[in-house]
Amino acid sequence: MSTTTKTSTTPNTSTTTDTSATTNTFTALSAPTHVFSSDPYDVIVVGSGPGGSTLARKLSQQGFKVALLDKSDFPRYKVCGGGLTQRAAKQLDIEFQSIVRDGITSMELCCKGENRFTFRKDTPFIHMVMRDEFDDLLLKAALDEGVEFFPSTRVSQVVSGESGVFVDTDRGTCRGRYLVGADGVNSTVAKQVGLMASKQKILALEYEMKVHPDDLNRYKGKVAIDYGFIKGGYAWVFPKRDHLSVGVGLGTRDGQFLQRKLLEYLDREQLTGEFSSQKGFFLSVGGSDPVVAKGRTALIGDAAGLVDPLMGEGIYYALRSANILASAFAQSIASNPDAPFGRYQAEIEREILSEMRLFQRAGKLFHAAPRQFHKMFVRQPKIVDRAFRVIAGELSFADYYERSRRHIGLRAIARLARVLQMW
Ligand SMILES: Cc1cc2nc3c(=O)[nH]c(=O)nc-3n(C[C@H](O)[C@H](O)[C@H](O)COP(=O)(O)OP(=O)(O)OC[C@H]3O[C@@H](n4cnc5c(N)ncnc54)[C@H](O)[C@@H]3O)c2cc1C
Repeated sequence: MSTTTKTSTTPNTSTTTDTSATTNTFTALSAPTHVFSSDPYDVIVVGSGPGGSTLARKLSQQGFKVALLDKSDFPRYKVCGGGLTQRAAKQLDIEFQSIVRDGITSMELCCKGENRFTFRKDTPFIHMVMRDEFDDLLLKAALDEGVEFFPSTRVSQVVSGESGVFVDTDRGTCRGRYLVGADGVNSTVAKQVGLMASKQKILALEYEMKVHPDDLNRYKGKVAIDYGFIKGGYAWVFPKRDHLSVGVGLGTRDGQFLQRKLLEYLDREQLTGEFSSQKGFFLSVGGSDPVVAKGRTALIGDAAGLVDPLMGEGIYYALRSANILASAFAQSIASNPDAPFGRYQAEIEREILSEMRLFQRAGKLFHAAPRQFHKMFVRQPKIVDRAFRVIAGELSFADYYERSRRHIGLRAIARLARVLQMW
C-alpha cells in the first residue's frame, strides 16, 4: 500500500449539502477516522478494477491527491473471461506481457456445434489474463504513482455537496472534492447519486477448469466460440496456460438454465476435468442513453453500463472511459468546478454510447438468424477479417458496421428476420 501523500491542488472543506443529489444528510454519516487523510482528497475513486486503478493512476500522475477504495483485499479473484482484446491493450501504457497467460492467434467459430471454422492471424489479437493478476498489476502501477489505496473498505453511502463529497465506508468517512464510481455492475456510487437506475443486467457463467494436457494443447493460442448455442448469447473456451476458462452467457438471466447449458457444452466439446471455480456474475448494459455523471460525481466502466451487449466485452470500455475522463479532468474542473463532467458525458456519448447503440442493433439482427450469419462468415471470411481489425483497434465498430452492411446487404437479412417474426 502506498504511503505517498500528495498535496491537494485546491483543498476545500465546505460541508454544504446538495439535497437534490441525494436524500441523505451529512448527519447520517459516521465521523471521519484516521484511516483517511483529514484533508479532503481531490478525487475519491471507488473500485480498483481496471477502470478505477487506471483512472487513479492517471490523475495522480497529473498531481491530484487521489484515494482509491475497494471492498476487497488484493489480489482478488474476479469472475471474468479475461480476454483482453488488442484494442483494450492499446489503452494501457504499462507493460502487461509478464502476466499474459496466452496470446490468441486463432478463433474457432461455430453455430450450435455445426460448421466449425477457424480464423487465423499472424499476431495475437486477444491476450488472455487472469483478472486477479491483471487487476493487481494495474493497482500496483497506481500505487507507484502515489495513489493512496484503501483495501477491504466497502462504500455504503455517498453524500454530494456543493463543494465536495462525503463517502461513508465501513472504515469511516472519506472526504473529497470529486468522486468517481468505478465500482462495477452493482455500483453503490451510481445508486447513491441516482444514476443508471434503468441499467439492464445480463448474466454470464465462468468456470475455471483443470483439464488433461492434450486438451490444453488443443486450445493453445485459440479461443472457441459457439453462438446460437443459447438464444441471444454464446458459449466459449478461453485458454489460460495451465487451465481453461469456460463459460456461457448473455441472452438470459436464468442461472440454472445457463448452468445446464454449460455442462451440455462441455460434454459436447468432450472436455472433462476438475473445476477450481464455478461462478456467475452480471454484466451491465446501460442502454442507449445513460447519464454517466451528475454534479461532482462521474461513473466509468461497468458502473456506467459500458459493456458491449453483443459479445460482453467490458475491459476495453473500463480502460477507455478512465482515459477519457483523465484526459479532460484538469481542464474541466478549472472551467466548471461544481459540475465538471459535461465534457466527459459528451465524449462518452460521442465515442462509446453511439457504438453501443450499433452493437445493440447488430446484436438483434445477428441473434435473430445466427445460422445464416455464420454461413455468411464462412463463405465471406473478409467480414470476419474486418471484425479482427475492430478487435485490434484499427477500425471503429461504426465503420465495421457500415462497411459490412454494404458488403452483405444486412437490410435483406433484417427483412427476412422480420418475416420470420424472429425479432
Ligand atoms: C462471466 C464474465 C466474463 C467476462 N469476460 C470478459 C472478457 O473476456 N473480456 C472483457 O473485456 N470483459 C469481460 N467481462 C466484463 C468485464 O469483467 C467487466 O466489464 C470489467 O471487469 C469492468 O471493469 P471495471 O473496472 O468497470 O469494474 P470491476 O472490474 O467490476 O471492478 C469493480 C471494483 O469495485 C469494487 N467494489 C464494488 N462495490 C464496492 C463498494 N461498495 N465499495 C468499494 N468497492 C466496491 C469491487 O470489489 C471491484 O474490485 C466479463 C464479465 C463476466 C461477468
